[in-house]
This record gives sequence, C-alpha cells and structure tokens, in this order.
Amino acid sequence: MKPALGAKVTPLRPKRNCPECGRPSERAHYPFCSPRCKAVDLNRWLSGAYVIPGTEDEIPDPETDER
Ligand SMILES: [Zn+2]
Repeated sequence: MKPALGAKVTPLRPKRNCPECGRPSERAHYPFCSPRCKAVDLNRWLSGAYVIPGTEDEIPDPETDER
C-alpha cells in the first residue's frame, strides 16, 4: 500500500515564541526560551507591571468589612 500524499498529518504543537525576547521557546521553559526570560517575566508580575483584568471583585470592599 502506498501512503496517500496529502493525508492528514497530526501537526506538532505550534511553536510559541518567547514573550520576552521573541525567540522560539524551549520545551523545558515553555513558553519562554530560557530560565532567564522566565525570571524576567516573573519579576514583571511581582513588580505589578501586569494588569490582570477581572480581579477587581476580588478586592475586598472596605464598606462591607465592618467590624
Ligand atoms: Zn526569551
């Protein structure tokens, strides 16, 4: 039997580029390319540079916190 050309081939997972430097990500550090870029991203999180939408209702309302 001859394998049909153009048959459906399961595609590999699309490669994502490192959000920090744009280089192809490494599997071990996905979605980053290196531990360094991972750390950079984490630091950005910790410094509050990222605005996370949809968390406003998790901030306790001082008026409902009566004691
Ligand atoms: Zn990178």
